Amino acid sequence: MLPDLIVTNARVLTMDDANPRAEAVALAGGKILAVGRRAEIEALAGPATQVIDAQGRTLLPGFFESHLHLVLGGAELAHLQLTGVYGAVPLGAAFHAYAAAHPAKPLLMAQGADYAMFGGRAITRHDLDAVIADRPIAMTAYDHHTVWANTAALVAAGLLHGAAMPAGHEVVMGPDGLASGELREFEAFAPVIALGGELRLNLGIATGGEPAPWPTEEERAVDRVKVARGLAHCAAHGITSMVNMDGNRYTLELLRELRDAGDLTARVKVPFHFKPTMDLSELDRAEAMTREYDDDWLQSGFVKMFMDGVMDSGTAYRLDDYPDQPGHRSAPLFEPGRFKEIASEIDRRNLQIAVHAIGDGAVRTTIDGYAAAQDTNGRRDSRHRIEHIEMIDRKDVPRLGALGIVASLQPSHPPGAMDFPLMPAMTKVGRSRWPDSFRARTLAEAGAPVAFASDWPVTDVSVLRNIQAALTRVPYEGAEDERLGLMAVLRAYTAGGAWAAHREAVTGRLVPGLAGDLVLLGGDIEATDPQQVGGMGIALTVCGGRITHQS
Ligand SMILES: [Zn+2]
Repeated sequence: MLPDLIVTNARVLTMDDANPRAEAVALAGGKILAVGRRAEIEALAGPATQVIDAQGRTLLPGFFESHLHLVLGGAELAHLQLTGVYGAVPLGAAFHAYAAAHPAKPLLMAQGADYAMFGGRAITRHDLDAVIADRPIAMTAYDHHTVWANTAALVAAGLLHGAAMPAGHEVVMGPDGLASGELREFEAFAPVIALGGELRLNLGIATGGEPAPWPTEEERAVDRVKVARGLAHCAAHGITSMVNMDGNRYTLELLRELRDAGDLTARVKVPFHFKPTMDLSELDRAEAMTREYDDDWLQSGFVKMFMDGVMDSGTAYRLDDYPDQPGHRSAPLFEPGRFKEIASEIDRRNLQIAVHAIGDGAVRTTIDGYAAAQDTNGRRDSRHRIEHIEMIDRKDVPRLGALGIVASLQPSHPPGAMDFPLMPAMTKVGRSRWPDSFRARTLAEAGAPVAFASDWPVTDVSVLRNIQAALTRVPYEGAEDERLGLMAVLRAYTAGGAWAAHREAVTGRLVPGLAGDLVLLGGDIEATDPQQVGGMGIALTVCGGRITHQS
């Protein structure tokens, strides 16, 4: 077989321990045909082979983004972006410009708001009314766990007088007996999201349910455009595989329709989202999705759950009190005994589990559940995962490695590491717990398999910026150095991610027979100052042998 594409004169880091370095890679039929020295690979070229001279730049397996929200991220590319906006005047300027550009939008939606936008005091509907009062406007916190809405949006969404919510989700009430404007967690702000026509794209994270009635072809076409924008955005950052961390069958259907049109530019895994209110029998739906979608491009095979919320809003479940709220530790979203039962049942059905756990209490409850599953079903190759692990009790650190639990971490999330300011976020954590926070290296050295991700749109999806954050993070006062070395970081974004998603037989390494998924960086990453890695750029992305991005 003659190669379709050869990338040569590269510094190839294969992530294959048997053959870690090479100079060139040949692809044929969407797969890797050969990896080796320049002369031997170039000699394979036929008359129709496209040959790309990499000019000594780093060539890697296509990036494996282990935790993102593709559909939400794609939709949000059209929203107002508030990263770095602080105070009433800049907020007003941003919203007024956006409002003028979108006179007909039923909801002016913004993203990336900081909880400390007004200096740390609670944000209310009155703050947003002062910006725009005569149209519904809302803004999502950068972590996507809180939305603030103005009075017009609360009225339109039917929330001004409050609403009954499942545990963990809250329409916060003000001293005047009306909604304050702060909406905590997905089900509380779903009625506001619905005003903008994007509720069906949020079901995967809010309820795990399916849109009813099923969206028309016209509605699906609108949604497909948003997903396609998200895919193109990821391809430009070198991503060829991704684990979507919310989902339902509708998400997979949209992706299948994109694939049928030739527009699927990455391999995507989509979970079944299990909510605390669900009966175990609902896992039949997870199994049905898993049977229906199981190939090299689209796959389900796992169940996502939330064990807690986030630190900033005080909804993360901790083992100790929040320093600014004596007596408050929040609570797990699944009662620990029931979680053990659920985890054992999912594991028994041969599905993987991924649980969002931020506080050390949520992390412990999740580990206990995975341990119970192992006691019940025996040790399988389950690779259950914990997403985020922002805080962990020292006694629990070795349990991940011992139980084979994957640490799915985001280098951009530690306050101070990338876009999130150190303060006041780390005040909420409390100085005495800084040494227990965001422990990438400690967990890796204690034997936990590590996968890296951005959690886009929570942070910039840029893999290179996340790599820079991982390489350059300054230790918190009194805490250990949690940086991993360059090769470990690259592995967590390639082979490590693929393994954590049970995809190592498909992609993640440059080995003949695996998928033709490549990323050519804008330079030689080993010779680049870590402080400059984020700006290196992506020269070329190839997924399944097809060029999906070229700068
Ligand atoms: Zn997430």
